Amino acid sequence: MAHDLDPKDWDAFARDAHAALDSMIEHLRHVRERPAWQEPTEEARARFHTPMPRKGKPLQHALDDFERYIRPYSTGNVHPLFLGWVHGAGTPVGMVAEMLAAGLNANCGGRDHIAIEVERQITRWMCEAIGFPQNATGLFLTGSSIANFVAVLIARTKKLGQGSRHAGLCVQGERLIAYASREAHQCIPRALDMTGLGSDNLRLIDVDENRAMNVDALRLAIRKDRAAGNEPFMIVGSAGTVNTGAVDPLDALADVAQEENIWFHVDGAIGAVATLSSELKPKFKGMERADTIALDFHKWLNAPYDAGFILARDPASHVAAFAREADYLVRAERGLAAGGVWPNDLGPDLSRGFRALKVWMQFETCGADAMGAMMADRCVIARYLADRLEATGKFALKAPVSLNIVCFGVKDDVEGKISGPLVEALHLSGLAVPSLTRFDGVPSIRAAVVNHRATRADMDRFVEIMLEWLDKVTAH
Ligand SMILES: *Cc1c(COP(=O)(O)O)cnc(C)c1O
Repeated sequence: MAHDLDPKDWDAFARDAHAALDSMIEHLRHVRERPAWQEPTEEARARFHTPMPRKGKPLQHALDDFERYIRPYSTGNVHPLFLGWVHGAGTPVGMVAEMLAAGLNANCGGRDHIAIEVERQITRWMCEAIGFPQNATGLFLTGSSIANFVAVLIARTKKLGQGSRHAGLCVQGERLIAYASREAHQCIPRALDMTGLGSDNLRLIDVDENRAMNVDALRLAIRKDRAAGNEPFMIVGSAGTVNTGAVDPLDALADVAQEENIWFHVDGAIGAVATLSSELKPKFKGMERADTIALDFHKWLNAPYDAGFILARDPASHVAAFAREADYLVRAERGLAAGGVWPNDLGPDLSRGFRALKVWMQFETCGADAMGAMMADRCVIARYLADRLEATGKFALKAPVSLNIVCFGVKDDVEGKISGPLVEALHLSGLAVPSLTRFDGVPSIRAAVVNHRATRADMDRFVEIMLEWLDKVTAH
């Protein structure tokens, strides 16, 4: 008896597989006809509390279960009225690329094969978009959380020397201090924590009225730390903060970093890909001066999850933070074991999938200009939403709309008591999915226009849905 895991009947498999693909294409084509989200039923949840199947069943059964118990109850971020958090929608082309990548099942940890070339191509294209040197090193990662972590490791190793990778931190005797605005993403303190540097050694710098980092406050904090005998080693600028989309004054931060000889990192999870748009690129002036940049293709570019990325200006510093000799990974002059720097020399992962393919295919089929225009249009739509909200007289903005994120509350609801119930009601109705945030402790509503399918008409509908809910609530 054969023990391989291939289909017993390839023709039947092909029929089922084609049907599955057709079904997902229809799923995306008719995305507007379904709720933006629906809660998994008890029956659906129960389907995933069953004993481990000791014997297999035909693929058709698993596909039926997928249709019945999984497909309807996913996150919902493919839907144009999914505005919660900062979620990309994915693309049909990205879906096909994921299937092709899975078919190849390339291991992109290293070696000399074509998938590595595709990944390096994406690195060079992002360098071109951002204005980074063409010899910079780049690496796909799960997301910007890990990309920011990798950046802290590169900066730390640069500061303490490669010996710190062996000796650890306790013997260094220096207190390394990093700086980010108080609007920085929570993965920045977590990165300090995970690297062993400690999140208490991250100074959270005050912001201005646009919620961008106050550069004078940064300078003062650095001076104070130096006076106290601490060692400033890293400045983190946000190219679009997660809460409101504020862009730190990156050029001024680069100046400070240069004057003070401090590593300059940009958390570009949201904004770095927007440099593909000639209209948006000037907003991020100074990013091109960074030492490292964390970015996400799965947010504003709308590539399917997951597709985070790290770019490093100086290849030697990047390699110095991760490369490690191993007998079983010895390199050759020729053949599959050739190829110089391998991706596993640039990050924590050895085995890695072919994430580059979906991004490459999206570039090839959409073109950089169309993707740039899509992103610029998200800002216009966000501004449109903000104007519509204000025009109703029922809502008040909570923060300036710097990019594509709109934060607001119900007017006169100073304590934000209505925001929570309103967002919850919208989720449960499946009509729209904004998310909740807080401003000075006050619950507020947050709508991030990331989804490439979202239109002005969708924003009209969103406002209308909220007004209907408010009418209903105040009628009681
Ligand atoms: C989303 C986000 C992150 C985290 O990125 P993931 O891809 O979710 O890991 C970091 N920084 C900012 C500004 C973000 O918006």
